[in-house]
Amino acid sequence: LLLPRNVYNVVVLGAGGVGKTALVTRFVKKEFTERHVPTVEDLYEKPLHLRKGVSAFLQVLDTAGTYHFPAMRKVTLQFGDAFILVYSVNDSDSLNEALKLQQEIYAAKGRDDVPMVLVGNKCDLASGTDKHLESHALASSLSRGKNCILAETSAKFDVNVTGVFTALMAQVALANSPR
Ligand code: GDP
Repeated sequence: LLLPRNVYNVVVLGAGGVGKTALVTRFVKKEFTERHVPTVEDLYEKPLHLRKGVSAFLQVLDTAGTYHFPAMRKVTLQFGDAFILVYSVNDSDSLNEALKLQQEIYAAKGRDDVPMVLVGNKCDLASGTDKHLESHALASSLSRGKNCILAETSAKFDVNVTGVFTALMAQVALANSPR
């Protein structure tokens, strides 16, 4: 199977209910629905315009976060060229879960320069509250992986959703550039 070189596998991970599916469907289909039926994994394809004359083709894997078999999870982590770790800005447990997943990715890949965006979703719910500021401070202090950046989004109101994917591709370019 021959794939053009600008195809990237993006894996979206995070605790249940943080808005993974909402982010992916907002990005891929420009839609938001209040409810969805959770599935184990869904794969979406979407071209992303990066700059004049340059596009990337993304295969986005929306995961349900729970796996009955650890081996399956490992395969999922191996599949990813780049990762979106989602937490909800009003739920500090979900941030801890995202940070655990970050370590799991580094372990599965055997390196710590994996392109990644740590995304605080649902920023429409908690903007400016103490909880929000706390989670942001914690996320900033802990997301020290190389090539891992922070972003905040609202899948509901389409805030910064495409920006996350564009920023992720910039991290991929950075990881692939000679240092
Ligand atoms: P997943 O389990 O991580 O895939 O989460 P879902 O995408 O199913 O979202 C869980 C719930 O959060 C749903 O009721 C969504 O409508 C809601 N939700 C997702 N993103 C946002 C957001 O940005 N803002 C708000 N207010 N709700 C959201």
